[in-house]
Amino acid sequence: MANVHPVSSSSYRDVLRIVRGMPTSDGAGVKLTRVIGQPALDMLDPFLMLDEFRSDASSDYIAGFPSHPHRGFETVTYMLAGRMRHGDNQGNSGLLTAGSVQWMTAGRGIVHSEMPEQEAGLMQGFQLWVNLPAKDKMTAPRYQDIAPERIPEVQLAPGVKVRVLVGEQGGVRGPVENIATDPLYLDLHLDAGAMADIDVPASHNAFAYVYEGQAKLGDGASSELLRGDLGVLTRGDKLQVSAIGGGTTRLILVAGRPLNEPVAKYGPFVMNTQQQIIEAVEDFRAGRF
Ligand code: MN
Repeated sequence: MANVHPVSSSSYRDVLRIVRGMPTSDGAGVKLTRVIGQPALDMLDPFLMLDEFRSDASSDYIAGFPSHPHRGFETVTYMLAGRMRHGDNQGNSGLLTAGSVQWMTAGRGIVHSEMPEQEAGLMQGFQLWVNLPAKDKMTAPRYQDIAPERIPEVQLAPGVKVRVLVGEQGGVRGPVENIATDPLYLDLHLDAGAMADIDVPASHNAFAYVYEGQAKLGDGASSELLRGDLGVLTRGDKLQVSAIGGGTTRLILVAGRPLNEPVAKYGPFVMNTQQQIIEAVEDFRAGRF
């Protein structure tokens, strides 16, 4: 499927398949769209879950995500609009504002809450769950709270701007560091009709999710994505992205090194074996997080 261009030795990625998210609710009743971690796409190694939240009706988000645990993976919150207050059982607290990213490595365990700090207005963003390799699942918890102004924005081509959250693009490096799966997380903004080639680590698993407008990705059979479409990408070291449909287009492009390890999942615990899940539940109940 990926076209091999003999003169450049680059291999271009295409869209392997398109997945639509599923409306659901989580936390204390927050309405969201689950795109990864649902029947149509159980996971995309190392990515376990992708939720999009977007509502200007406070009843959809006001209940938030009260105190809950995590073990064995990382939660990544990218805010596009609104404010979320984060706090945990170790005394850490922070405010996630529009344009910020929080990369939380839960490791051996954290108990935290994620609550809206607004009573009205638009709340929009993504939460991505990234798996940890077996050797890092019981590491000490760690946060990378990145304010909006620390995320570099690069112009890749006329009418194409990209914010680099983690990984490299256009000669700049994103501020999130030392992540086991060596991820790339980009937020792309394209003016009507604009086009650019994006560099993607060749052997990483990757997806793109269109959250505004329409995009053409590569030139395969399933190349045109509408708002709310996730495209699972074939392998390759480049992706050609264009804005189609006559308007501006916004999408996230995320890639990560697959772990190829067994996955045992139980709610907010993601380990390698069922025995480790039992231990996680016991440790949590005994207050050992
Ligand atoms: Mn959480």
